[in-house]
Amino acid sequence: MSLFDRAELAPADPILGLTEAYNADTRPEKVNLGVGVYLGEDGKLPLMEAVRAAEERITQQRRAKAYLGIDGMPAYRDAVRELIFGADSSALADARVATVQSLGGTGALKIGADLLRQLSPEATVLISNPSWENHRALFTRAGFDVETYRYYDAGIKGIDFDGMLEDLRAAEPGTVVVLHACCHNPTGYDLGSEQWDAVIEVLAERQLIPFLDMAYQGFGFGIEEDGAVVAKFVDSGLNFLLSTSYSKSFSLYGERIGSLSVVLDSAESAKKVLSQLKIVIRTNYSNPPTEGAALVTTVLTDPDLRQSWEDELGAMRERIKDLRKGLVDGLASRGITDMGFIAEQLGMFSYSGLTKEQMVALRTEHGVYGLDSGRMCVAALNTGNLDYVADAIAAVRA
Ligand code: PLP
Repeated sequence: MSLFDRAELAPADPILGLTEAYNADTRPEKVNLGVGVYLGEDGKLPLMEAVRAAEERITQQRRAKAYLGIDGMPAYRDAVRELIFGADSSALADARVATVQSLGGTGALKIGADLLRQLSPEATVLISNPSWENHRALFTRAGFDVETYRYYDAGIKGIDFDGMLEDLRAAEPGTVVVLHACCHNPTGYDLGSEQWDAVIEVLAERQLIPFLDMAYQGFGFGIEEDGAVVAKFVDSGLNFLLSTSYSKSFSLYGERIGSLSVVLDSAESAKKVLSQLKIVIRTNYSNPPTEGAALVTTVLTDPDLRQSWEDELGAMRERIKDLRKGLVDGLASRGITDMGFIAEQLGMFSYSGLTKEQMVALRTEHGVYGLDSGRMCVAALNTGNLDYVADAIAAVRA
């Protein structure tokens, strides 16, 4: 008997499994709303114009493929820190932020989880109920007990804010609290500014450790507007972790580019934390890849490319809002008038409120693929498939 016979067959990743089923579906009218990617009007993944131009410049430079430092490309770290915290952030001026380049948002979360596990092995991690599927798996795999705080209330199609605060108040000091900075995945419901203030107050009172996950900056209200949550945390004086991803906002999914920042009290603490983050990285994959960092840095630091990127990201954001509205109107014209909330949600996803049975029927009877939880990626709609999807939803609701 081989050692490897002990390996049990793990269930397929639910989202990737869904994509496989979609690919195998021969119906030409099929629509994949299961994925978490933004697709253009042509149903394809866009190559953003600023990224294309940056790629051309980088190719012309024909740089040799040296190793980057363990914490990544210095110019990249500076550029994303400015994007996340703002050019005149007091935390940056005080050099009390430790930042590393990461393998997308997932890599940032894992580096942060490994650091936390080392510093506080007994801590519990709280994630929202529901949350991005990988949060629970990732923090569990890092060795933590993962529990949830109340978030979505199906009854009101919104946030159970009192329940959320109550659960945070009941948490032990030192508990790690994972919070979606904007465009909550999967529900599409975000906290308002005053609600964030109240959450921050409880986090401080209960001495909880916030871990902000920002995978969709720019998809909610705008780059600065979405980043305002981060500024609130800086102003609060709390120590916190922040993961970011440029998979969606630069359409750089396969480049695996993101960042992890830890905001601390002093430059001295930042230095120590950075040294520990480097050990986590060094013992996992040594150092990150260059391409994604070079692309993001080029776009963010060149005024023309940056403007082009901001404009295109803004257009993507507005287009998703139009698609949401289009779906709501399409449903209303088919007699479904109780799904207007889809237009209120933010980001790439909509929690549709459809039951598991309805989601299965959408898939099997109509070839419209969403998650059993009712989550649909509205950023994968286009004017060509919107009516079909509205017809399908109306049919399963009948
Ligand atoms: N965090 C959230 C909330 C996400 O939705 C995602 C991606 O879907 C990630 C993190 C991971 O991002 P990345 O693909 O850059 O690893």
